[in-house]
Amino acid sequence: MSNIMLVRNMILLVLFVLAIYPYPALSHTDSTQPFGFLKKLEGCQKGDTVKGLHEAKQYLKNYGYLNVESGNENQDEFDYILESSIKTYQLNYNLETSGILDTATVKQMMMPRCSVPDIAKDGATSMKSGMKHHHHHEHGKHNGSLHTVSHYSFLPGNPKWTKMELVYRFRSSAAANVDSATLQSACIRALSSWEAVSNFRFRVPTSFREINDIMMGFHRLSHGDGNPFDGPLGVLGHASGPDGGEAHLDADENWSTNPDQSMIDLESLCLHELGHVLGLGHSSDTNAVMFSGIGGGQQKRTPTADDINGISALYS
Ligand SMILES: [Zn+2]
Ligand SMILES: [Zn+2]
Repeated sequence: MSNIMLVRNMILLVLFVLAIYPYPALSHTDSTQPFGFLKKLEGCQKGDTVKGLHEAKQYLKNYGYLNVESGNENQDEFDYILESSIKTYQLNYNLETSGILDTATVKQMMMPRCSVPDIAKDGATSMKSGMKHHHHHEHGKHNGSLHTVSHYSFLPGNPKWTKMELVYRFRSSAAANVDSATLQSACIRALSSWEAVSNFRFRVPTSFREINDIMMGFHRLSHGDGNPFDGPLGVLGHASGPDGGEAHLDADENWSTNPDQSMIDLESLCLHELGHVLGLGHSSDTNAVMFSGIGGGQQKRTPTADDINGISALYS
C-alpha cells in the first residue's frame, strides 16, 4: 500500500468514526440530556402516580417553584402542591396555566437554562409570580394604543453594587471546547454591552494583588460552590449577584462564537450571567437576555428594552 493510499484510508476511518460518534443533540426529545427525563412525564396531571415524577418535583424545587417544606418531593404522586407549582411556572413562562405537564410546558422545562432559581427560597421575589409578594416590577404603560410591559426581576433582597467601576478576572477550573482567549473575548464583548446600557465601567486589575469584583470562568460538574453542573445541556451556567461576582459556565457544553443548532452561543451566556452579577434576576420575556433558557444556535448578544429597564430601575 502506498503512503497516499494509507493516508486516504486513515482519513476515511476518521470520518467514519466521526460519523457514528453519538453527539449530544439539542432536540427536546433527546432522553439522554439532563432534562430528558421530563419527556416521559408529558401529559401527567393531578391524581396521576408516575415513576419519575419525583424528578420533576426536584427540578421545580431547584428553580424555586416547590417549597422545601412540602415533604413530598421524593414521591411520584402528582398532588395539588405539584399542580400549584406547575401553574406558577406556567405563569412565569407565559404558558397556559393548566397545572398539567402539557407539551408546551415540558418543552419549555427541557430547554437548556441557567441554574439561578427563578424564585428565591423565601418566595420573596422574581418574575410574574413575584407580583403576589411585596416586590412588584410589572409596569404597564399606556401611551395611546402602545402598551409595553416589563418582565425583568431583581435577585432576592435586591442586592446592588455600591460602586460603578468593577474589576474583573478570569479563572477556570476546567477546560472547555473553546480556549480561554475565546472565553475572554466573548466576556469582554458582553461587559461592553452592559457598559453601553448602564453607568458601569469594567476593567482589569492594575496589579496582581488588586482584588477583583467579578470572576468569570469554565467549571465542570461539582466545582466547589454547592451547585454542580450536569454535563452537556441541562444547566449551562450560573452566577452570583453583588458582591459575589462569580460567573460560571459549564465546561461540558458545546460552546461556540458562531453557533449552529447543536451549539450554545458563548457571548449570550456571558451576557446573561453578567446580568446576574449586576443584580438582575430572570425575566419572563422570552426575548430578554435575562430569560432563563436559551436554545441551540440562539444568539442574544444585546440587552433588550426589558433588560435595560431592569438595570435602569435597579440603579436609578
Ligand atoms: Zn440566569
Ligand atoms: Zn458554580
